[in-house]
Amino acid sequence: MKFDVLTLFPEMFEPIKESIIGRGTQKKILEINLINIRDFSKDKHKKVDDTVYGGGAGMLIRPDVVYDSYKSVKKDNSKVIYMSPQGKTLNQEKVVELAKEEHLIILCGHYEGIDQRVIDKISPEEISIGDYVLTGGELPAMVLIDSISRYVDGVLAEESISEESFSNGLLEYPQYTRPVEFEGVEVPEVLQSGHHENIRKWRLKESLKTTLNKRPDLLNNINLTDEERKILEELKNKSESYPL
Ligand code: SAM
Repeated sequence: MKFDVLTLFPEMFEPIKESIIGRGTQKKILEINLINIRDFSKDKHKKVDDTVYGGGAGMLIRPDVVYDSYKSVKKDNSKVIYMSPQGKTLNQEKVVELAKEEHLIILCGHYEGIDQRVIDKISPEEISIGDYVLTGGELPAMVLIDSISRYVDGVLAEESISEESFSNGLLEYPQYTRPVEFEGVEVPEVLQSGHHENIRKWRLKESLKTTLNKRPDLLNNINLTDEERKILEELKNKSESYPL
């Protein structure tokens, strides 16, 4: 998977050179290119922004520099995304969908944003990472790259993504590691038993319990199996819950 990121601040992208994403790029499964929009300025001072027509605070990124940087990387198979608070909010479904693309161009705004004419010309899909406004699209772009990269074949072990939160519409069950006892609290016995079917049932119940307590809204959007529906009814009747 190839990402071309159009940004005025390529130096902000250090965090995604580390850890799992860093290893993915070293193994050449992922390719993350940072394109500095400023390099496309024809101004002798390398100016890329200007005041807003009609008045108002702040500066806007010019359309010509953005368009030239976009044309430098655009291919027939490119999918173009503009990180924007006005876009649809990113969720796991969108992440999985985008992980199937071969080439993503990610445009990051900054300051007051980008001249509307180039947004209309490029016609990108607009994606937000939440209903709040950040100073630039760089952090949102890193969120997008990180979340997508986990779904690119070879970046993570298959089991890591098939059982985690949202993968089946539910939140993940609680997990434990060594020591077996911590501050007087033991790892649940069933998890130490090695009995696969009992462990599966325990995890499913805990997954449903966690979802019911923390994000009951998620339960409205999924088709539960008969087994899940039965466990959920029992949980509701007993009103078993975790202290949140
Ligand atoms: N004036 C714009 C508005 O009110 O919609 C906000 C511009 S914001 C200060 C600057 C840039 O940060 C945006 O162009 C966008 O690229 C990015 N950005 C800010 N908040 C974001 C969010 N929640 N999700 C994705 N990108 C965001």
